[in-house]
Amino acid sequence: MPQTARQWLEHIRALELPERVRIMNVCGGHERSITMAGLRGALPDNLELIPGPGCPVCVCPEEDVYTAIQLALREQVTLVAFGDMLRVPVNVPKSEARSLDQARARGGDVRPIASPTEAVRIAEADPQRPVVFFAAGFETTTAPVAGMVAEGIPDNLSILLSGRLTWPAVAMLLDSEAPGFDALVAPGHVATVMGPEEWEFVTERHHIPAAVAGFSPDSLLAATYSVLRQLQEERPFLDNCYPELVRPGGNPAAKSCLEQTMRVGDATWRGIGTIPDSGFHLRPEYAAHDARVLFPGYADEGRKRAGEMPPGCDCARVVLGKLYPTDCRLYGKACTPRNPVGPCMVSDEGACRIWWSAGARPDPEAATGS
Ligand code: SF4
Repeated sequence: MPQTARQWLEHIRALELPERVRIMNVCGGHERSITMAGLRGALPDNLELIPGPGCPVCVCPEEDVYTAIQLALREQVTLVAFGDMLRVPVNVPKSEARSLDQARARGGDVRPIASPTEAVRIAEADPQRPVVFFAAGFETTTAPVAGMVAEGIPDNLSILLSGRLTWPAVAMLLDSEAPGFDALVAPGHVATVMGPEEWEFVTERHHIPAAVAGFSPDSLLAATYSVLRQLQEERPFLDNCYPELVRPGGNPAAKSCLEQTMRVGDATWRGIGTIPDSGFHLRPEYAAHDARVLFPGYADEGRKRAGEMPPGCDCARVVLGKLYPTDCRLYGKACTPRNPVGPCMVSDEGACRIWWSAGARPDPEAATGS
């Protein structure tokens, strides 16, 4: 019989735990469920649930957002992007457009979309006008884009692809001197597409407990209990606490579309730098639909150096689980959802935005430094 959240909490409270256990999640959906359900407050004090690299909008390279803005302003194109991307700020003087929203206010044809099929519809509606789809996201967002490209898209539709794989960011943390967590709750949706096997390196190579979780408090608490038991028994293995949807091998059709249309290579993460084998890139066979090939003049090497987070913004450390949102000096002061300084306060998957939505207010201690 499935256990309820309350029962899982009782099991967790009954465990004899070390003085401090840090469990990282790497999914904006997980972080939202944990925060909105108040799981942190319900768990023992020595358990820390740390939001990690789970927000694709937050790590989308500044140079890609800048390129999208320039395309919208300087080319005769319609620029479409998922809604979150429109408010992501870049580092330019205030006299220039700092986001796609501002580019739209200055006359750029920028349109928010909710799915890749909308991009196709917009392109089909005006075949003479080039449409650029700024596609930023993790595996779950990139797979439908790959499916769309594999199926065939209108001649006037191109992709500015900024797709990222989640596991290499975790691998980078685990290979570092201070990973900052003792156990991992792996992302259910990513595992649904790519297969849970992608996460076996966590337990097999690094001997860190791990469990794949779904998005309900029950599933998240089941995964939490699982990794705690693994810690206690010193027997790490990859547990699947989302068996309803996560199957061995993932989704073969989605993976085949990714394989057909994209290759995996090194990629930049905003504020973090280059992570090996962490990016999806369109294959040369699809160059006719690759906005980077069609509009090469906007690839600005200089922006790669400038492309950190906005001044004072600690998003990169928040994304890597090194800092809680409320520890940022700007949280709730200079930076709010109405006036976001960094991408973590823009995106629905950003930890700062999620914590703010749940009512977390600035930590007075952070006023003196973070
Ligand atoms: S509160 Fe704002 S400035 Fe601080 S890390 Fe989050 S997004 Fe960046």
